[in-house]
Amino acid sequence: MSSERRIVIIGEILVEIMADTIGEGFNDPLPLTGPYPSGAPAIFADQVGKLRHSVGIISCVGDDDFGRLNQKRLEEDGVNISGIDVDKDRPTGTAFVRYRKNGSRDFVFNIKHSACGHLHLTPGAKKQIDEAEHLHVMGSSLSSQEFMDLNIKTATDIKARGGTVSFDPNIRKEILSTAGTAESMQAILGMTDLFLPSGDELTMLTQADEASTAVDELLGMGVRAIVHKHGAEGATYHDADGPISVPPFTVDEIDPTGAGDCFGGAFTTFWLRGEAPSDALKMAAAAGALAVTERGPMEGTSDLSQIHNFIRANAKAS
Ligand code: ATP
Ligand code: MG
Repeated sequence: MSSERRIVIIGEILVEIMADTIGEGFNDPLPLTGPYPSGAPAIFADQVGKLRHSVGIISCVGDDDFGRLNQKRLEEDGVNISGIDVDKDRPTGTAFVRYRKNGSRDFVFNIKHSACGHLHLTPGAKKQIDEAEHLHVMGSSLSSQEFMDLNIKTATDIKARGGTVSFDPNIRKEILSTAGTAESMQAILGMTDLFLPSGDELTMLTQADEASTAVDELLGMGVRAIVHKHGAEGATYHDADGPISVPPFTVDEIDPTGAGDCFGGAFTTFWLRGEAPSDALKMAAAAGALAVTERGPMEGTSDLSQIHNFIRANAKAS
């Protein structure tokens, strides 16, 4: 196994187009800004690529500008795009988003019937899967049986050759209603080394309802490390040695979308590199905080020097 553990991620690539104004839904003409590169697994991969760690995404885009802008961005940021196919018939996935007054979001998605809604296992994609030493699974990508099956098979194979698995349940109600998703999530969790839930997701797949008993249950089933994300409140790390918390960095939140993916991409990279959990946690929290200061889900990914400079500037400020 190489010293740098190659990461692979299988999932959706989209563009996001966002309403300029806060309000309910999209029932009247309104000003929009976009397209921005997006898709939770793509944002995660972009963050890993910016940290100059080996990462590839297995996905598909349409033969259109929305696809090309994603391929260009991911490649520029260091992501291996040889596992991204181009579908001549289906367009690149889209998400139109509008924030409501209470901070929640209205979405109009075109994912299932878009290019990335169908599995395209090209020779380039197969090669990357075969050579990967770490699989990251996004719950949002378990959107159909073929994606569930491929993620479970890839996790099984990677574990069999001594590799590792991280899992962000990223549970969205649209996905949970797909038949077999809950069972697939359980199967993935059973092979997970690093679990990255946010908020209530910590207890959504456990028997336990309380956070502390859920942590024990997860550690008991073989999960080695859990990072529980709390949005603007920071994050908590748990392993067999107990919890470590990191206070949140204070920033002006411009756009919260993508923070969890940037945090997860950064934490997973530092964890694979063998950084101390407290350092990995601090750097990932910086990546998450930096992410929310930019408009657009993938616009806030950051490289190592941006993360270090941000931590230094905040240490001075406090
Ligand atoms: P997503 O909506 O992308 O799925 P998530 O729920 O998985 O997000 P969050 O908890 O929102 O993840 O964010 C991940 C991490 O980023 C947090 O644990 C925190 O460290 C950092 N973060 C997020 N929002 C803020 C904020 N407003 N200020 C400072 N740090 C933040
Ligand atoms: Mg999330």
